[in-house]
Amino acid sequence: SLNDRLSGLFDRLSGRGVLSEKDVDEALREVRVALLEADVALPVVRQFMTRAKELATGEAIIKAVKPADQVVKIVYDGLIDMLGGEEPVPVNLNAVPPVVILMAGLQGSGKTTTSAKLALRLTKFDRKKVMMASLDTRRPAAMEQLKLLGEQTGVDVLPIVAGQSPAEITRRALQSAKLQGYDVLILDTAGRTTLDEALMAEAAEIAKISNPTETFLVADSLTGQDAVRTATAFHERLPLTGLILTRADGDGRGGAMLSMRAVTGLPIKYLGAGEKVEALDVFDARRIAGRILGQGDIVALVEKAAQELDASKAEAMARKMAKGQFDLDDLSAQLQQMKKMGGMTGIMGMLPGVQKVKKQIEESNFSDKIFDRQVAIISSMTKLERKKPDLLNASRKRRIAAGAGVDVAEINRLLKQHRQMADTFKMMSRSNGRGAMGQMAK
Ligand code: GDP
Ligand code: MG
Repeated sequence: SLNDRLSGLFDRLSGRGVLSEKDVDEALREVRVALLEADVALPVVRQFMTRAKELATGEAIIKAVKPADQVVKIVYDGLIDMLGGEEPVPVNLNAVPPVVILMAGLQGSGKTTTSAKLALRLTKFDRKKVMMASLDTRRPAAMEQLKLLGEQTGVDVLPIVAGQSPAEITRRALQSAKLQGYDVLILDTAGRTTLDEALMAEAAEIAKISNPTETFLVADSLTGQDAVRTATAFHERLPLTGLILTRADGDGRGGAMLSMRAVTGLPIKYLGAGEKVEALDVFDARRIAGRILGQGDIVALVEKAAQELDASKAEAMARKMAKGQFDLDDLSAQLQQMKKMGGMTGIMGMLPGVQKVKKQIEESNFSDKIFDRQVAIISSMTKLERKKPDLLNASRKRRIAAGAGVDVAEINRLLKQHRQMADTFKMMSRSNGRGAMGQMAK
């Protein structure tokens, strides 16, 4: 399986100290086979390999990170990319109520069950007033099934009226939901065992009448590439907004999940994880990527790799600081880095044992917002001035102030800031290697 192959690969890699380009190639080849074995669509695999190679060459320069961890990270990032990015995308309820959610898909894919699961979730967690309606006029038991699920979950279901067409039921449901002040209306449609024109036409008509905010395709992840083909076919006729993959509880390979997003371009929003009405998970690419890689602690591993990288940069800086070589170029680099990493206090938090400096900086009211201005000031200086700030006399300061569009007082504040930082760093290193800076400089 994908899990076994990848876990085996990572086990082998983690035994090595240094990884050559050949190792990386070999590893990625293995990943390729694993993905194909997992029933991931070929174009998706190709796309993944290209992306992974890009990442691999980009990351190759990070010497501080253990090579095996790097490959894990590359594959993990690539998987997340393929699954649609890190942030889970919750259901969109941004419309005038009743917000309509249309559930489409083949028969037996799990539409009715998932309608109830979603209704329960929106009622319980989002405190929405939800109504469900079954438009499945084909199977007499289908409407009863939804009614029972409504009783089980405590969610209201549009009363059954015999002899109405799906379009008529849709209109009645809309009116009823509007009159009774429902926030959300979930429409459960009929499915067929195979894709056919009549099914598509019916779903398209219902969509036209109800103007859904979300149109979900419910697909059985166990059907692999068939699920992907179903999604593509539906998407051609219906403006789908997202995918819900059911039976993820039995899907060890993850092939459908990996292909779905890449082939259709649609976000996977939820995973059905069992027969119970509570068994619906918000789709989280990070969790799935971790599961596919078969390493429970993958996220921790990736975080560690990222930390090692930050630490190696911080270490280089600390070495300069300790030698008393912290000049204005360094400050400028720091400022830009800090802005990226969430501010001064953020980066200081990454250096172990620098609580004192961190506190000083916090106390000095060092606002993240002035990073850009300060960088601008420094870039208005000559190279020599940046190396030797003592050169900055009144006339030089006036020139720089004009260049950066600030007043001289701001330049003085910046220089004072720099002096304080440089002094603190020097002082810390002078504590003869006992301080964190001294340690790091070694
Ligand atoms: P529909 O024809 O698309 O409405 O499908 P149903 O909602 O009636 O579901 C068909 C069967 O699949 C039922 O027995 C459900 O209990 C089962 N089912 C639906 N979703 C899941 C899931 O996420 N996991 C598992 N294991 N079974 C599911
Ligand atoms: Mg059904």
